[in-house]
Amino acid sequence: MKIPFSPPYIDESVIAEVTESLRSGWITTGPKVTLLEQEIQKLTGSPRVLCVNSWTTGAIMVLRWLGVEEGDEVIIPAYTYCATALAVLWAGAKPVMVDSGTDFNISVDAIRRAITPRTKAIIPVDIAGYPCDYESIMSLVSEPNIKALFCPTSPVMKQMGRIIVINDSAHSIGARYNGHYGGTETDITIFSLHAVKNITTAEGGAICLNMPVPFDNEQLYKELRMKALNCQTKDAFTKSKAGGWRYDIVGMGMKANLADVNAAIGLAQIRLYENLLRERKRIFAAYNQAFSKFSWAVLPPCCDIKRETSYHIYPLRINGISEEQRDEMIAEIAASDVAVNVHFIPLPMLTLFRGLGYDIKDYPQAFENYHNEITLPCYPQLTDDKVQFVINTVVKAYQTITHKR
Ligand SMILES: *Cc1c(COP(=O)(O)O)cnc(C)c1O
Repeated sequence: MKIPFSPPYIDESVIAEVTESLRSGWITTGPKVTLLEQEIQKLTGSPRVLCVNSWTTGAIMVLRWLGVEEGDEVIIPAYTYCATALAVLWAGAKPVMVDSGTDFNISVDAIRRAITPRTKAIIPVDIAGYPCDYESIMSLVSEPNIKALFCPTSPVMKQMGRIIVINDSAHSIGARYNGHYGGTETDITIFSLHAVKNITTAEGGAICLNMPVPFDNEQLYKELRMKALNCQTKDAFTKSKAGGWRYDIVGMGMKANLADVNAAIGLAQIRLYENLLRERKRIFAAYNQAFSKFSWAVLPPCCDIKRETSYHIYPLRINGISEEQRDEMIAEIAASDVAVNVHFIPLPMLTLFRGLGYDIKDYPQAFENYHNEITLPCYPQLTDDKVQFVINTVVKAYQTITHKR
C-alpha cells in the first residue's frame, strides 16, 4: 500500500470553484480572494484578514511595515521551518533563536532570557498545529520592566509601545485556543496556505490583523493590501474597469498578492473545513490509541484545558533511540512505501544558519525533540485501513531496528 505524506484535498467542489474562476474572465486578485478573506475572518474571529501569495512573503511584508532594520532582533524558535528565520533576514533584522519545550513549541522562559533593548518582535511557531502558550507570551511583552526595555525605532514601533508578537501559524489554521478557533491570540497571526497545509491555495498565506488600539485594523488592511500590490493606488481589478486607468505608485511595495484562481481552491476547502478537521482528528486519535500501548512511543501534544491542535501532522517520538536509529527506522518505513518526515531539523543544523554562527549545542531541547522524531501522515483521505497500515509499518520498523518484540 502506497501512502503519500500530504496530498492536497481536491474534491468536485474544489474543481468547480477553480473552474468558475477560470471561466469568469478574471483569474488574479479579485472576488475569490475577497471571499476567502471573509471566510477566514469568520472562522477565526479576526477583525481583518489579508490574503497573500505565501506565509514567507506575508511575514517579510509585516516586518517591513513594522520598520525593523539592521541591528534589530526578532526572537524565533530554533526548532521551526527555515521560513521563520528567512523572513527575519529578508526584512533586514537578526533572528535570535531560542530553545523549545518538550511540547515542541518555543519556551517562554527562553524568550524572556533572550529579550534585549534591540528586541522588536517575537515570532512563536505552533509546531504541528499545537498552539503556543500565548497567554504567557502576551503577558510577558506587557510586563512593565519588559516594556521599559523596549526602544522603538520606527513610527509603528512608537505607536506599539512594546514588542510585537506575530505568530507563525503556518500549521495551525483550525487549532483551538480558549474554546474558539485561533487567530486572535496575538497582534498578528499568519497562516500558510501552501500545498501541504490544512487548507491550501497551492501557494498562499493569510495575515490576520488583530492589532491593539490605537491601530485601526481596517486602515491597516488597506495599507498592507496596497503594499502587497507594489504600493499601487488602484488594484488591477479596479484598473481593468473602463475608464479606470489612472493610478499612482506611492511607496516601495512588494508583489505579494494572492490570485483568485489560487484562492478558489482554499475557498472550497474552508467551506468543508469542519468535516476535514474531524477527519484529521479521527486519524490522530487512531494513532494515539495504537501507540499508547507501547512504552517506546511518546505521543505528540494534542489538547489541554486551553488548547487543541489543528491535527496538521503527527510528530511521534521514539524513546531510547539515537538519531541514527531514527534514520534507520525511517528507511525501514520508506521500504514499505509509507512516506514519513521529520519536523523539524533544527535551524542551527542547516548549512546556512551554521554559517551564520548558530550552534545546535545552544539548543539542547530542540535537538532532543528532533533526534528521535518521525512525523506520520495525517490527512482526511487516509482511510482506517491505511492508518492501520501506517501503524503496523511503524511498529514493525521499531522492532526491526531494535530487535525487540
Ligand atoms: C510551511 C511553513 C512556512 C512557510 O509557508 P509558505 O507559505 O510556504 O511561505 C513557515 N513556517 C512554518 C512553520 C511552515 O511549516
